[in-house]
Amino acid sequence: MLAAGLSPEILAKYEPVIGLEVHVQLLTATKAFCGCANKFGAEPNTNICPVCLGLPGALPVLNEKAVEFATQAALALHCTVNERSIFARKNYFYPDLPKGYQISQFDKPIAEHGYIDVPAANGSMKRIGITRLHMEEDAGKSLHDGFADSNTRTYLDLNRCGTPLIEIVSEPDIRTPDEAFEYLTRLREILLFTGVSDCNMEEGSLRCDANVSIRPRGQEKFGTKAEVKNVNSFRFIRAALEYEIERQIEVVESGNRVVQETRLWNASEGRTYSMRSKEQAHDYRYFPEPDLPPLVLTADWILARERELPELPEARRARMISEYDLSEQDARTLTASREFADRFEAAAKTAKNPRRVANVLLSEVGGRLKALGLEQEQSPVSMQGIVLAADLLDDGKISSKQLKQLLDTSFEKNEDFTQVYEREKPQQITDTAALEKLIDEVIAANPKQVEQYKGGKKTVAGFFVGQVMRASKGQANPALLNELVTKKLDA
Ligand code: ADP
Ligand code: MG
Ligand code: ZN
Repeated sequence: MLAAGLSPEILAKYEPVIGLEVHVQLLTATKAFCGCANKFGAEPNTNICPVCLGLPGALPVLNEKAVEFATQAALALHCTVNERSIFARKNYFYPDLPKGYQISQFDKPIAEHGYIDVPAANGSMKRIGITRLHMEEDAGKSLHDGFADSNTRTYLDLNRCGTPLIEIVSEPDIRTPDEAFEYLTRLREILLFTGVSDCNMEEGSLRCDANVSIRPRGQEKFGTKAEVKNVNSFRFIRAALEYEIERQIEVVESGNRVVQETRLWNASEGRTYSMRSKEQAHDYRYFPEPDLPPLVLTADWILARERELPELPEARRARMISEYDLSEQDARTLTASREFADRFEAAAKTAKNPRRVANVLLSEVGGRLKALGLEQEQSPVSMQGIVLAADLLDDGKISSKQLKQLLDTSFEKNEDFTQVYEREKPQQITDTAALEKLIDEVIAANPKQVEQYKGGKKTVAGFFVGQVMRASKGQANPALLNELVTKKLDA
């Protein structure tokens, strides 16, 4: 929010237009054009060589794995992969770029014309176009903090020089911060499923620049855009866009013009700052990279990459919903990562009722993990434990109350559910006479509900089951209890 605070009426006069440029580091073992290790967190300036430092005479050799990953990402994003693309030099001076240029692709990228479908505000799906996907190399890193003399010096870590990247440029099709968030969420999910990147924003393996403009609603012509950089966490995408949209509306409402510029998002202050205006913008003097031949891919090779693609998140969700009778929300949570979905499906296949496995996994175990701020990997309950719990519930061998108690113990003692269950084998009341006695008491105490039931409201049976279950301290055998309650009420 800006200090001034614009009224909803004024905000509604304008339509935001957003296009995202996303850089993604590829998970290759080695760098894009040399044999140096491509890994985050190594001792500074240890994974470097004459090629990635651009020393005179060193020649780049293209990493085939990087091309495979770029192609797979492109295909997963519905892009057309070009059989011939060209590497180009993008020239600029910056301390973290010792070569003085970056190898990138310019007018002939490896892929174009893709899309991602995102949910729109009206509940339907909206298609966001992808203009292009191209390959390039990363630059090094300037370290401005953390040294005793950081106030007078900047240190350089060149390990990242030459890391293979893909840049994915969207069409200016996005209209709200929510759509931008959805686009990025789905993009990340698709890339994670494809396995080409770990998409870790904190470590910089997925970076997003947001281009934003506003126009009066109804006007076709786009307004002047600003590019917001440095939005390096998923949490901030909406906030950064909302801020920038309001800032531009305020500029226009006060009779001024939005200037084309690059702005930096400052997360601690929750605002953007001007970094450089278009007048100072770079002229990159792109030209074809003389040290690399055109990249030529055969149709067969591209087809082979397409065949290697795993089932992608959207398709997988649709299949899981119908195969396991899951809700949309549960399917979304279960496909948060390919590994999680794989683990669930492997478990679900061994259980009697997959939907019940999803319930125990997400609501019962997931709820407890969330309350404790733990990740799935830190769960004391194994998938085997979850399947056991689901089967016990399904067979009516434990009640849901007993499940909760067993899981509480499991979390308290950091023991798997299987162990806790073996030890505690909770009591169950399967004695018909004893249960009937409890049911009679509850029926006698609730004449109004009995009347409702007799009047045709059969769902009231659930109320009686709940009351008796409570009276039995959760120990009533659920299947038997259900049967007896209906029998009594129908009598
Ligand atoms: P530039 O040459 O300034 O990099 P591009 O045409 O390459 O601009 O577009 C960069 C990104 O900005 C793309 O994602 C595109 O969709 C987006 N974009 C282009 N024009 C606008 C605009 N007027 N408002 C918002 N985004 C825009
Ligand atoms: Mg651009
Ligand atoms: Zn190297």
